[in-house]
Amino acid sequence: MKNIVLFGPPGAGKGTQADVLKDKYNLVHISTGDVFRYNMKNDTELGLLAKSYIENGNLVPDEVTINMLEAEVEKNPQANGFIFDGFPRTEDQAAALDAFLAKKDATINGMVALEVEEDILVGRLLERGKVSGRADDQDEAKIRNRFNEYNTKTAIVKDYYEKQNKYYGINGVGSIASITQLISDVVDTL
Ligand code: AMP
Repeated sequence: MKNIVLFGPPGAGKGTQADVLKDKYNLVHISTGDVFRYNMKNDTELGLLAKSYIENGNLVPDEVTINMLEAEVEKNPQANGFIFDGFPRTEDQAAALDAFLAKKDATINGMVALEVEEDILVGRLLERGKVSGRADDQDEAKIRNRFNEYNTKTAIVKDYYEKQNKYYGINGVGSIASITQLISDVVDTL
């Protein structure tokens, strides 16, 4: 099994890259943001619970997110491995993921982080908001709040994986194909 965490701030390109990499490496792509949006669209209990957090650019509480992530993994018992996109976003989530995978005799092989400066990202997100229809992409105050959440709660997750010698940072500015290549150079060694 190969399990990869694709990491980076909002707008870094995690979803775009995961889409390419899942086919290239035959991995199941789990985007917690996508799962939340699917639930919101379908007015499920989970969607209703997550909605106000997401629309304001706040993180959804850990317990809800961890339970959801584990359920998504369990839906794919035959998987060759997973690309986790947008998870873990807190230290507690990272620890929960390790404990969950350990029960399956599995582990995270590496965290690949797309490094992009915040000013570039705000512009990218506002552009994406014009087509994504996402409320959290269309309002600069909400975008700034997402970065605040990232800087105060998520950025430290890098240290968690660095301590395990599993952190690989790459430059997330460039063409989609060139960044896929940089990520692949890392994934091939894992
Ligand atoms: P994303 O599509 O990854 O940008 O996620 C969109 C929103 O979903 C985030 O701003 C959070 O509100 C919520 N979300 C996604 N993943 C997580 C997570 N791992 N922990 C908490 N909230 C999350």
